[in-house]
Amino acid sequence: MVRPGGESMGEFELIRRYFTRPTPKAVLGVGDDCALLPMAAGMQMAVSSDMLVAGRHFFPDVDPRTLGHKALAVNLSDLAACGARPVAFTLALALPDANPAWLQAFSDGLFGLADAHGCELIGGDTTQGPLNICITVFGEVPAGSVQRGSQPDTQAILRSGAQTGDDIYVSGTLGDARLALEAMQGRIQLSAAALASARQRLEQPTPRVALGLALRGIASAAADISDGLLGDLGHILERSARGATVNTELAINLLAMHAYFTGASGKFGNMLSPQLTLQCVLAGGDDYELVFTAPAAQRSAVLAASHSSETPVTRIGQIEAAHGLRLVDGHGAAVANTFTSFDHFAP
Ligand code: ADP
Ligand code: MG
Repeated sequence: MVRPGGESMGEFELIRRYFTRPTPKAVLGVGDDCALLPMAAGMQMAVSSDMLVAGRHFFPDVDPRTLGHKALAVNLSDLAACGARPVAFTLALALPDANPAWLQAFSDGLFGLADAHGCELIGGDTTQGPLNICITVFGEVPAGSVQRGSQPDTQAILRSGAQTGDDIYVSGTLGDARLALEAMQGRIQLSAAALASARQRLEQPTPRVALGLALRGIASAAADISDGLLGDLGHILERSARGATVNTELAINLLAMHAYFTGASGKFGNMLSPQLTLQCVLAGGDDYELVFTAPAAQRSAVLAASHSSETPVTRIGQIEAAHGLRLVDGHGAAVANTFTSFDHFAP
């Protein structure tokens, strides 16, 4: 709840104006002590939370419209990784003050993405305090049709299903969000056009929900890339008790910005070092692409899923029995892995 008095707009008026919309999928939306969601027979509920803290995950003066988009996008990305269909979400919001222009823009960005995915805001909490946004999403995924050994009984795509010999794929492009951050914090210089396009990736990521749904039954494991490719692939390897080799030559082409800096048509000359390019691609963070694995026998099925979801995918490596993550260049020579993914509590 919001501290009593002080604002011209009270807590409940704020919730009514900016966060109350029709919720046809829910039995009951905003307004009671609990929201109510129906559970379809044979379906399971996929649940995930992500918190965004001002100064930690975003610049406090960021455009509130993109912030509303991103707060939900990072949550939908978790549903995408599991192959779950978005249904609803809750929003726990701490706000320094009730600024109508800020709230309107935040709400517009939030519902713009929510409506695009048919994901309904069904409740939340609102309090006065340093800007902090916590969303919990609810998605649905079919229960298992066949029991897969000791795996949980579900058709959700899990981190734990990668098998030796599986291909490793990444969706879309990687590293551009990190490049934007490097430029916004003054460590590199980008042209206005390059910065605008990189910032779009940082501030308005596209959750790969359609790809995740299309990969159900095809991918053996998946994770979304929030902290950097190598770190998030590492989670799959750990949960699957496997290792992997990743080809950095393939990975480097995942940087959309890469085309700007290299080759005869490079618009801005070759001013991005190979090391920084690899750091952005392999460990950049904030990409919200999917890293997933699939048996080699599923290559054409993966391509079909890529086409049907209109999401490009690139094969970058292979799952192996030997534990650990190995990097090789285009000639198969070892590349030292000095790339560190983001960790809030890294010593
Ligand atoms: P309670 O006191 O029972 O926690 P509140 O008085 O805080 O409930 O909230 C009233 C109603 O408004 C509840 O249905 C709650 O889920 C909803 N709500 C509160 N904050 C938000 C928000 N930021 N977005 C959407 N719904 C919200
Ligand atoms: Mg209550």
